Amino acid sequence: MSTTFDPEPMTLRLFNTLTGQLDPLLPSDGKALRMYACGPTVYDYGHIGNFRTFLHIDVLRRVLKVMGIAVHHVMNVTDVDDKIIRNAAQTGLPIGEYTAPFIDAFFEDLDALRMQRPEQIARATEHIPQMVELIEKLAQAGAAYKTEEGSWYFRLAAFPEYGKLSKKDLTGITDGARIDVDEYEKDSARDFALWKAARPGETSWDSPIGRGRPGWHIECSTMAMEYLGDSFDLHAGGEDLMFPHHENEIAQSETVTHKPLARHWMHVRFLLVDGRKMAKSEGNFFTLRDLLLKGYRASAIRLALISVPYRHQLNFTFDGLLEATRAIERLRNFQQRLSETAFASGENPALQDAARNAHREFIAALADDLNTADARAPIFELVRAANTAIDQGQLFSADRDAILAVLKDFDAVFDVIDDRDDEATRRAIEWAEGAGREADIAPELRARQSLTDEAIEALVAERTQAKKQRNFARADQIRNQLAENGVILEDSRDGVRWKRK
Ligand code: AMP
Ligand code: ZN
Repeated sequence: MSTTFDPEPMTLRLFNTLTGQLDPLLPSDGKALRMYACGPTVYDYGHIGNFRTFLHIDVLRRVLKVMGIAVHHVMNVTDVDDKIIRNAAQTGLPIGEYTAPFIDAFFEDLDALRMQRPEQIARATEHIPQMVELIEKLAQAGAAYKTEEGSWYFRLAAFPEYGKLSKKDLTGITDGARIDVDEYEKDSARDFALWKAARPGETSWDSPIGRGRPGWHIECSTMAMEYLGDSFDLHAGGEDLMFPHHENEIAQSETVTHKPLARHWMHVRFLLVDGRKMAKSEGNFFTLRDLLLKGYRASAIRLALISVPYRHQLNFTFDGLLEATRAIERLRNFQQRLSETAFASGENPALQDAARNAHREFIAALADDLNTADARAPIFELVRAANTAIDQGQLFSADRDAILAVLKDFDAVFDVIDDRDDEATRRAIEWAEGAGREADIAPELRARQSLTDEAIEALVAERTQAKKQRNFARADQIRNQLAENGVILEDSRDGVRWKRK
């Protein structure tokens, strides 16, 4: 049947924030790559900045798989923190009830954007005893102290390597601490909270170290080590997490284990929207749901967010989304043409070479620090060359198989050709209707979605019948009705094809 490619004997070289260079990324146990990615804080719906980071982590997982490497990926859900407690208190709900819909929404959004689920999802509120244990160990090591009101802090002076990830020069601060440790009482801006003493009306847990709730950083240290051991292969997140969050995770964990928490650290650069930092106050802040309700397709959002390599700044624009929409359309049309055309048997050596080279360049670009932009380019070149060859009758069945195999690997990483966009849009509309946000649904989107696939099929069949009976007026009327609802008809020798615009 179709040509397949062996897992490429190529190693991914990924920039490592810790060493400041491109390092090979391989499973240290020779079996599966063990990775931890900081997940969402579930006090609101995810925005496109969050999803840019999660999508690049999804790309990483998929690239490893294409290279034949198994992955064990753990992601936390921060379901207790200052913002959650504050917002829950304002709405009068217990935090679990406040966060539940945002957790559901987050996973629905992951599905819409075609992100693969991590092997393990860990919720902070389900790991409180383990967090307390880690704080106790830090206290035994002399690295944690309790303040008068019952909170626990990490004593920065206990970890001289602090700053090694973010390369911030903190020597002045730690030196000063050694001279007078008392100075480090809670006045120190750098000693950070491990456990916050209970306050009236706030969620808290009983524990041997007092009643309270965990600090954010201890959550990740605890859950990462719980599922991946003291030392694992990769830790990832957005660039804002490098300092202080990841630096604090390193300090907490390594003080206790004396082993590197993670060998490799990956940080995804923040995006800009229309050239500016995304902010509600700037009016350029978008959740995934905002964009789906404006009528943009989930696949186009995915492609736009991943096409700029993760260490480069992406400037997200609506023009960029339209470009992504057109690019996907080109790929889908091409794949359909390849699958549906009857080709003569045989092969065109030039196209065989082109397919092999495109695949090699695709993998090589991804292996080079996940260069998604350079990985995309050869695929579109191959599409152009193949379309020309089909027009000239120079593409044969073996070429079709080779090219389909390239597209299969492309989609194993990019995942935009296989079309499930309508489902994502339909869910977003259902959500908006349930959440009293009908006004946000773009009118043309409503029209587009109001016709079900079955209704379209029925109209198409009726039109075919009308044409047979030479009732061209009715046939044209149906074509126009479908066009108004964003459905395009293509008449061909093999019958009528329809698709949504
Ligand atoms: P949060 O829900 O705020 O804890 O963030 C979840 C993930 O999204 C973290 O890895 C953040 O670093 C990342 N993130 C937050 N804002 C942005 C942004 N504007 N661009 C890229 N990544 C972001
Ligand atoms: Zn984290």
